[in-house]
Amino acid sequence: MNVRSQISMVFHLDKCIGCHTCSIACKNIWTDRKGTEYMWWNNVETKPGTGFPTKWEDQDKYRGGWELKDGKLQLKSTSKAKTLTNIFHNPSMPSMDDYYEPWTYKYDELFNAPEGSDQPTARPISMVTGEYINVESGPNWDDDLGGSPVYAESDPNLKGLTEDQRQQLFAIERLVFFYFPRICNHCLNPSCVAACPSGALYKRGEDGIVLIDQKRCRGWRACVAACPYKKTFYNWSTGKSEKCVLCYPRLETGQAPACFHSCVGRIRYLGVMLYDADRIEEVAKLPDDQLIDGHRSLVLNPHDPAVVAGAQANGIHDSVIESAQASPVYKFVKEWKLALPPHIEFRTMPMLYYVPPMSPVMANRGDDTVSSVSEEFFHDIEHSRVPLQFMANLFGAGHQGKVVYALKKQKAVRTYRRAKTVGDIPMETAEKMLREADCSIEQAEAIYNLTSLCTFDDRFVIPPMHREEAIEMMRDPAEHKTAVGFGFMEPPKRGL
Ligand code: SF4
Ligand code: SF4
Repeated sequence: MNVRSQISMVFHLDKCIGCHTCSIACKNIWTDRKGTEYMWWNNVETKPGTGFPTKWEDQDKYRGGWELKDGKLQLKSTSKAKTLTNIFHNPSMPSMDDYYEPWTYKYDELFNAPEGSDQPTARPISMVTGEYINVESGPNWDDDLGGSPVYAESDPNLKGLTEDQRQQLFAIERLVFFYFPRICNHCLNPSCVAACPSGALYKRGEDGIVLIDQKRCRGWRACVAACPYKKTFYNWSTGKSEKCVLCYPRLETGQAPACFHSCVGRIRYLGVMLYDADRIEEVAKLPDDQLIDGHRSLVLNPHDPAVVAGAQANGIHDSVIESAQASPVYKFVKEWKLALPPHIEFRTMPMLYYVPPMSPVMANRGDDTVSSVSEEFFHDIEHSRVPLQFMANLFGAGHQGKVVYALKKQKAVRTYRRAKTVGDIPMETAEKMLREADCSIEQAEAIYNLTSLCTFDDRFVIPPMHREEAIEMMRDPAEHKTAVGFGFMEPPKRGL
C-alpha cells in the first residue's frame, strides 16, 4: 500500500441551475488574457448536447484517453513510434471550428451612435481577425437545448438508446435536460501528463493537482490531444498550453477554488481522499463493467489505523489525514456510493465525481396529455425521463447498475424526508424504500444534511497545505509577499 493524498471533488447535478457563475468566476481570475479568449477551464454544458469543444466525448473523433491493447494501457492519441510525426501534425487535435471563433463587439458603434430613428447595435467582430463575423458557435451554444435537435441529437451518449428514448430526450414537447458543469478532473492516471514529450505536465505530490510547468512547455499540444475531457488548451499568444490549476493559490491560503466559492446552487464539494497509488495501473486495466468498483477501491478508509500509519510513513501531515477523515467527498463517493466518475471508460481515473440527477421527478408527456409517470409521489427510476442508458453512458461506462443504485438511494432519501416533513407518504413505506436502497435512517439524515443544509465549512474541507515548509526553503518569503505570490521566486511571465 502506497498511501497518497488527493484533493477531490463532487458536483451534485440535481442542484445545478445552469447559471454559469462558476465559468465567469474562473474566466475573470485566470483566462481574461491575450491567447486565452476561447479557454473555459470551467464550463457548463447542457445534456443532451455536444458540449465544448463540440463532441469532446467522441473518442473516435478525438482519440483521447487510454485504451487496453494486449493487456497493456496505451495512449490513444500517440505512441513512442508516433511521437515525432504527431508533434508536427495530429489529425485528432480539435480545431478552432470545434471550439469557436472568439469574438467581441464593436461597442463604440453602440455607445457613440448619433441620435437617429433606428436602434444602434454593436456588431460582433472576430478576436482573431478583427473583422465583422456572423457568430455561428460559442462555448455554451447548445445551452438549455438551444439549437436542438442539431445539438441534442448529436450527443455521443445517445449510443444504445431506442428511437423512442431519443425522442423522449429532445422532442420539444417532451424535452428534458440537465446541466453538466466541467473542470479538469485532476485524474489519478492523467493521459495529459503521460503524453507530454517535454515532461512539462506533472501531478503535485502533496495534493494531486495536475499542473503545466510554463517554463518546460514547448507548445507541442500533446496534452490537448491526449486529454479525453479536452481540459488542456493551447495559448496561441505565449505558445504554451494551459489548464485548470484548481485555484491552488487559493487552496494554499485555505480558500475554495473560485468556481466552488461562487457556485450559486452550492452543488460543489471539495475534500481530501487518501488512495493507494500502487494499484492505479491494475485498476485502470479492469474491464469496463468493473471500473467503477475498482476506482472506488483505490480510495482508502482514512479511519483505518493501517491507512493512517501508511499515510504517516509517506510523510502525509496529520492535519491532512484529519481533513481526509472529515472529507465530504469521501462520504459521497465511498460511504454512500452516490457520486460517480464521468466516463470512467477513458481510464484516466478522474477525481471529480458527479451525483447523477433525478430531475424532473414527476410528469411525462404522452401524445397529447401530461400525466404522472408513476403511482408513487416520485417517479420510478426505471421510467426516468432521462433514460437510464443515457446516464449509464455518461457515468457508468455504459452499465446501468451503479447509476440505478445512486438514483434509488436519492429517491428513498427524498421519500423519507417527504414522509417526515409533509406526512403524505406513510413512514413505513419510506423506511421500506430506504432498506431496499441500502440506506439506514442515519445515513438518510446525513445525506439530507450534506445535500440541503450544508454550510461553506461542510462543503469545503480544505487541508492546511503546509506550504510554509516550501516557503522556508526560499530566501526570504516576506520579500516576495504581495508582489509575486507565495512560492514564486519570480513573477509569472506569460508573454503579454
Ligand atoms: S481531465 Fe484531462 S487535463 Fe485534467 S488531469 Fe485528466 S487528463 Fe489531464
Ligand atoms: S455556479 Fe454552480 S449552479 Fe451555477 S452553473 Fe456553475 S455549477 Fe451550476
